[in-house]
Amino acid sequence: MELKIFALVLFTLLTAWNLFLEILDYKAADNPVPLNVIDVYDRKTYKKWQSYHREKVGLSIVSMLVSFLVLFMLFQFDLFAKVSPEKGIYLPILVLVFFDTLVEGVIGVIFSFVNMTIEEKYGFNKSTMETFAQDQVKELVIGFVLNLFLAFALAALHRWLGDWILVLFAALMLCVMLLVSFLYPWLSKIFNHFTPLEDGELKDKLTALLTGHGYKVRGIMVMDASRRTTKSNAYFTGFGKSKTIVLYDTLLSALTTDEICAVFAHEMGHGLHMDTLKNQLINLGNIAGMVLLLWLHVHFAGSCAPFGFASFNYAFVMILVGTIYMPVFSVFYDILTSRHSRRAEFAADAQAVQEGYADALVSALKKINREDFGTLSPHPLTVLLSYSHPTLSQRITAIEAKKKEMQHGEHSTEPD
Ligand SMILES: [Zn+2]
Repeated sequence: MELKIFALVLFTLLTAWNLFLEILDYKAADNPVPLNVIDVYDRKTYKKWQSYHREKVGLSIVSMLVSFLVLFMLFQFDLFAKVSPEKGIYLPILVLVFFDTLVEGVIGVIFSFVNMTIEEKYGFNKSTMETFAQDQVKELVIGFVLNLFLAFALAALHRWLGDWILVLFAALMLCVMLLVSFLYPWLSKIFNHFTPLEDGELKDKLTALLTGHGYKVRGIMVMDASRRTTKSNAYFTGFGKSKTIVLYDTLLSALTTDEICAVFAHEMGHGLHMDTLKNQLINLGNIAGMVLLLWLHVHFAGSCAPFGFASFNYAFVMILVGTIYMPVFSVFYDILTSRHSRRAEFAADAQAVQEGYADALVSALKKINREDFGTLSPHPLTVLLSYSHPTLSQRITAIEAKKKEMQHGEHSTEPD
C-alpha cells in the first residue's frame, strides 16, 4: 500500500512542479523585453503575441491538470486493474495498452484540436480537418503498436531471462532508438512530402558550405511543412560524411538566400561538432534511466499489487514508469542536458559567424522568432531548467561578441 501512496504523492509533486514552471511561463508575457530584440515585434503585434502566449500556456496548464486528474483517478481507484483480465500474460497486456492508448488518445486529440483552433485564430494553422484527423490516427496507431511491442518484449524477455533482462532490454531499447533514427527520414515521409531543392544560387552556396568542410551532400530536400504550419525550421540527417539537409518550405518563402545560408551554416555547425552523436549519447542516459526504473519494478514483483492487480502486468509497469517515475527522472536529467544543449546552440551560431553569416543569422533568427511568435523574455529559471536553446537576446549578444572577436582577431594578425 505504501508504494501506491508514494507513487501518487510523487505524481502530485511532479505536477505541482510542472504547474509552477507553466505559471512562470504564463507570466513571461509581462516581463520587460531586452533591448537587442525590441524590434522583433511592433507594438500591435506584441499585444497579439501576449494574448497568443497566454492562450497557449493556459491551454497547456488545463491539459496538464486534466491529464493529471484522469490518471490520478485511474491509479487511485485501481481502474487499470479493473479493465484488464486477471488470467494470462499477453491478453492483459494487450487490453491495458489499448485502454491506455484510448484514454490518453482521447485527451490528446481534444487538446490538439483546441490547440489547432488557437493556431487558426492567430493565422498559424494550415492544417485541414482531414490532415489533422489523419495525423491523429497515424500517431495513435504508431504509439499503440510501439507500446504493445515494447510491453510484449518486456514480458517475453523477462520470463525467458530473469534479471538478465536488464542488459537485454537496454540493448533492445538501443536498437529501437537507432532504428528510429535510421528510419527517421522514412518515417517523416509518412507525414510529409519531400522534393529536391531547385538548382540555383541557394543550392550552390549551400553545397559550397558543406563541401568546404569535407562533407558529401547526398541531397538538399524541401519538406512541405506549409501543409500544416507557417513555422520555419531546418535539420540535418544521415550518418558519416554523407548528409541530407532538410529545409522547411516555410523557411524558403520567409528568408533571403543569405539568411537561409546562415541557418544552414548553424545546422552545419551542429554536424561539425557531432551534436547528433552527442544527442544520441544523451538519449542513452534517458534509456538507462528508463531501463533501471523498469527493472526495479519487474525485479520486485510486488509492484502491481498495490494498484489492485491480482497478477503481475507488464503493461501497467510501463504505464507507471512512463507516467510518474520517468518524468521525475527527466526533471533532474533535463537540467543537465538542456544546459549542454544551450552550449551546443551557441557553438553552432559561432560556426555560422565564422562562415561570414553573422548579420544574416541575426536577421534570420529575428524573422524566424517573429514568424514562430516566439517568447522574447522568458523567466531565467524556465531557461535554466528546460530551454534547449538560449533566448533570442542571449544568442544575438553572443553572435555580436563573436563577430567583434573575429574582426579584432583579423586586425591583430596584421603587421604593425
Ligand atoms: Zn541549433
